[in-house]
Amino acid sequence: MDFETAAIHVGQDPEPTTGAVTVPIFQTSTFAQPRVGEHTGYEYARTGNPTRTALQQCLAALEGTEQAVCFASGLAASDAVLRLLSPGDEVVMANDVYGGTWRQVDKVHRRAGIETTPVDLTDLEAVAAAMTPATRFIWAETPSNPLLKILDLAALAEIAHAHDARLVVDNTFATPYLQRPVELGADLVVHSTTKYLGGHSDVVGGAVCTDAATAEELAFLQNAVGAVPGPFDSWLTLRGIKTLGVRMDRHCANAARIATFLDQHPAVEQVLYPGLASHPGHELAARQMRDFGGMISMRVAGGRDAATRVAETTRLFFLAESLGGVESLIEHPGIMTHASVSGTALEVPDDLLRLSVGIESVDDLLADLDRALA
Ligand SMILES: *Cc1c(COP(=O)(O)O)cnc(C)c1O
Repeated sequence: MDFETAAIHVGQDPEPTTGAVTVPIFQTSTFAQPRVGEHTGYEYARTGNPTRTALQQCLAALEGTEQAVCFASGLAASDAVLRLLSPGDEVVMANDVYGGTWRQVDKVHRRAGIETTPVDLTDLEAVAAAMTPATRFIWAETPSNPLLKILDLAALAEIAHAHDARLVVDNTFATPYLQRPVELGADLVVHSTTKYLGGHSDVVGGAVCTDAATAEELAFLQNAVGAVPGPFDSWLTLRGIKTLGVRMDRHCANAARIATFLDQHPAVEQVLYPGLASHPGHELAARQMRDFGGMISMRVAGGRDAATRVAETTRLFFLAESLGGVESLIEHPGIMTHASVSGTALEVPDDLLRLSVGIESVDDLLADLDRALA
């Protein structure tokens, strides 16, 4: 079954009692049992809920993994993955991961005895040098945020496996439509479904896609720790996923046009977009991704003040954190998303703006940016 079909059909057969073609929102906390010690497959909604099951089955199909386990947020999903480790274990992590992921390993899991080393994962020699006998995970994110660096997932998987470690990929920016990390050797794929998968800026959620044995451990944590997505959140995410393919095509087409426009604009110093031939990760991205995604960063001529003025002047591009929704967003990473989190050795230039290009008319978006840059 092709991707677009799986997004609409896997886990989503018509509901058997009524024939409803949309998976119902099973808004219930518990399930009546026919006999003591016997149940229908569902007992209590933290442990399992049919709307959540549908979402999990669909996500596993899209990532090409045996199973998926969903959580209340992307950070709850990464927390569950890190809880697979024990004191003394180590993680080699991209030095430009999502800020909240770094805060979690640095401030939460370090206290539980798990050491995380930030490394520039584009430098494969540095990665190999950072591996120790205690390293359990290499944790990658590509394209990265906000510098849109591209990592070689096949090469990282090889290094991880040679050291008896596993490759974890945060696939939030690319989505399984553009990039399938497991086909490149990754062992676990983490998502903030809040972004492109949900796609409409109306729900927060997370997921881990992996093999059946690891998923069983994660499902234990899902139930034992309890950071589960509610049935309505699961339903909204599943509804968003149905249109992922068409949305991503449009995000990518719009972003490509806008990146080319910005690249030639006199008020823009530099455009970071993997679709541009000038981007250092362009060829690698062309190899490992179907298309180049909807995220663009740019350095504005005139420094920090000019950059903040542009971000405050656009009208269609809302000034907001987050990304991946149908509406376009603009933000200043140095002051907004990346201000509170330091220590990853990540230098975010203060003239940098990040765009999440939506699926509006590209002509309207170009006019909005042109006006703001003027
Ligand atoms: C947003 C995001 C997260 C965290 O997800 P939440 O749903 O906000 O908890 C993790 N990784 C990446 C790449 C993200 O963009």
